Amino acid sequence: MELWVTEYQTPSLGFSCKVTQTLRAAQTRYQHLAVVETEQFGRMLLLDGMVQTTEKDEWVYHEMITLVALNAHPRPEQVLIIGGGDGGTLREVVRHPGVKKGILVEIDEDVVQASRDFFPELCCAFSDSKAEVTIRDGIEYVRENQARFDVVIVDSTEPVGPAVQLFSAEFYQNVFASLKEDGILVVQSESPFFNADVIKMAYQGIKQSFPITELYLASVPTYPSGLWSFTVGSKQHDPRRPLTNYQEGCKYYNPQVHKAAFELPGFVRRIIEE
Ligand code: SAM
Repeated sequence: MELWVTEYQTPSLGFSCKVTQTLRAAQTRYQHLAVVETEQFGRMLLLDGMVQTTEKDEWVYHEMITLVALNAHPRPEQVLIIGGGDGGTLREVVRHPGVKKGILVEIDEDVVQASRDFFPELCCAFSDSKAEVTIRDGIEYVRENQARFDVVIVDSTEPVGPAVQLFSAEFYQNVFASLKEDGILVVQSESPFFNADVIKMAYQGIKQSFPITELYLASVPTYPSGLWSFTVGSKQHDPRRPLTNYQEGCKYYNPQVHKAAFELPGFVRRIIEE
């Protein structure tokens, strides 16, 4: 008998992959966690039934959520990641030559453990000398740290459960305070096709605190609709212009893609201009 996993991306659309093995299925303190082996995308991590990452396409998201902000900042030395317990964003952060410290603050230690157990390509940075992994609520952590970071990356789940507040204007205001005077914030802000409301919430919320707010796009095959958005808030530097062209080992990111990612189709531009 065949086994398939389906993410219900909308109430009337499912994204299904053929599964060869279920490696873990457990309820954590915060969410349902599953790791399955799929034929198409290799190992896949799901939280509450939503695809978080897969072995075969993780690099698009992890390069794009990380390198745009890091290369737009002249000295991205101290970097904070909120969420991102799978480790992929941390891997890209500590790989960047300008980074001195990458701090990962993840609320659910079972996500970190699942990465250690099943995703060697993602968890490899947990033991890096530049990395620090803390199991805590990122909302509290940001509130307690003032003027400390050059770049803050919010690699969160969808705005449900513990991630709801990560999309609030109050949280972005606290992130602004946690950044140094020329700091940059980047958040994953979901699909322009299916989550225009989330993009509006992130963009408008960030705009309330940051003088520069921009949206950019990348193509992630396993995320709803395949077209994914990221929203950046910057205190000084123009996030659309890479100041350094670090791209070693990258499969998606390069300085041309960096600039082009900010060129938005009309329907996406209308979402943020409305
Ligand atoms: N790339 C993914 C995506 O867009 O689907 C996100 C990956 S990562 C696994 C998301 C992580 O954010 C989850 O492990 C979740 O536990 C964590 N998270 C959610 N709310 C959080 C909070 N308030 N503080 C810290 N981590 C949080």
